[in-house]
Amino acid sequence: MRDTPYKNLAVKKTRNGLGIFTKVAFGIGKTIFRINGTRKHYTTLLRRGGTFLDNCFRVSENYYLSPEGHIGVYLNHSCEPNARVIKKGSKLFVYAITNIPADAEVLIDYSTITAGDDIWTMRCNCGHKACRGLVTNFYKLPHALQEKYKTLHIVPKYITDI
Ligand SMILES: [Zn+2]
Repeated sequence: MRDTPYKNLAVKKTRNGLGIFTKVAFGIGKTIFRINGTRKHYTTLLRRGGTFLDNCFRVSENYYLSPEGHIGVYLNHSCEPNARVIKKGSKLFVYAITNIPADAEVLIDYSTITAGDDIWTMRCNCGHKACRGLVTNFYKLPHALQEKYKTLHIVPKYITDI
């Protein structure tokens, strides 16, 4: 990886491939890491598709961040997340939304960074009892879950604004 080593994080085997694990505890609201990557126009995602597309993070109306070669490529989804994405300027950061102990996987809900015009979906096998089975864009989530996520301010404003 091209990132400087993250002394508080480790990449390890998890349920479905590799994931990002804490080496120390992160309190609620703490920054866990910045998602480094390369900005890509959405037409590049459509052209390349596959895993490349799956790994990209929405950053604006027309652009996504490809974390290829960086730790963000291992950021997995859970239907019961312990982290969220926040945008500061043009940069994306991952924050703890619960108190995360050491040696826990850092997990976001991909639906929270998938805007209304994203047609991308992903089968989910996260293993949580609340698993939705299919990850969709935010507006296709059950209404009660949308309200819960809005109340918790888990969905970045730039996603709901698109
Ligand atoms: Zn799930």
